[in-house]
Amino acid sequence: MPEDAPEPGGTPAPGDQRRALAEANHILVDQGILDAFGHVSVRSAEDPGAFLLSRNLAPGLVQEDDVQRFTLDGRTDDPRPSYLELYIHAEVYRARPDVQAVVHSHSPAVIPFGVTATPLRPVLHMAGFLAPRVPVFDTRDTLGPASDLLIRSAESGAALAAALGPASVVLMRGHGSTAVGRSLEEAVYRAVYTEVNAHAQAEALRLGGCVYLTDEEAAATVATNTKQLPRAWGFWRDRAHRPA
Ligand SMILES: [Zn+2]
Repeated sequence: MPEDAPEPGGTPAPGDQRRALAEANHILVDQGILDAFGHVSVRSAEDPGAFLLSRNLAPGLVQEDDVQRFTLDGRTDDPRPSYLELYIHAEVYRARPDVQAVVHSHSPAVIPFGVTATPLRPVLHMAGFLAPRVPVFDTRDTLGPASDLLIRSAESGAALAAALGPASVVLMRGHGSTAVGRSLEEAVYRAVYTEVNAHAQAEALRLGGCVYLTDEEAAATVATNTKQLPRAWGFWRDRAHRPA
C-alpha cells in the first residue's frame, strides 16, 4: 500500500458500529459469502482492545441487539451463546493492530485453493489485495490429524493469525478463509472479491493458463479501489435490504 494512499473511507462513528456490523452481515449473505455460517467482526472504535461480533446466530438474522462485545482474550459479559470460532477474531486483532475488521467465511469457490497446490493469486483488478501471496493455514500443524478443523481456542487462533502474517486473506484448509481490512467496508470488500477472484482464476486455469497481476499492478489497483469502498458498501447494503 503506498504511503500516500487515503484512509479507507466510511468507518462508522462508535454509536453506529453495531448497526454497521448488522449491515455487514446482511451484505455478506446477500453476496453469497456467508450462509448459515461464518461471521464478521469490527474492532471497537472506543477501545482498540475490544471487538464487536454477533452472538451465535445465522448472519442473515443478525440485528444490532445481537452484537456482543469481546476483549482480545475472547471474554464477554454477554451471557448469550457466542460463536465457537470467536478466537479467529480475537487473535487476529491481537496480532495485527492495523486490522479494524475481520470476515470469516466458507465461501465455496475459495475452498479448492486451500486443498490443492494451486495458490490463490489476483487475476482481476478488483482483487489486487491478494498479492503478493495468500497463505494457507492447516489445522493439522497445530491440532493434529483428528480435529474438527474449527478455531476453538486462543492457541489455534494465534496460529491462524501467525499464518496470516501481513497478508489480507488467509485460506483455511478444508474449511474456508479469513479476510481482514482497515475498515469494515474494506474487510467486506475483500471477502467478496476473494470469492470473485477464486471463481475467475479457476475458470482461467480450466481454459489452459492464467496471467496474474504483477505485484506492482496489484498495489496500484489497491490504491485506486480503496477510494471506491463507500460506493460498493452503499450499493451492497441497499441491495441486501431491498424488498423481497
Ligand atoms: Zn468456520
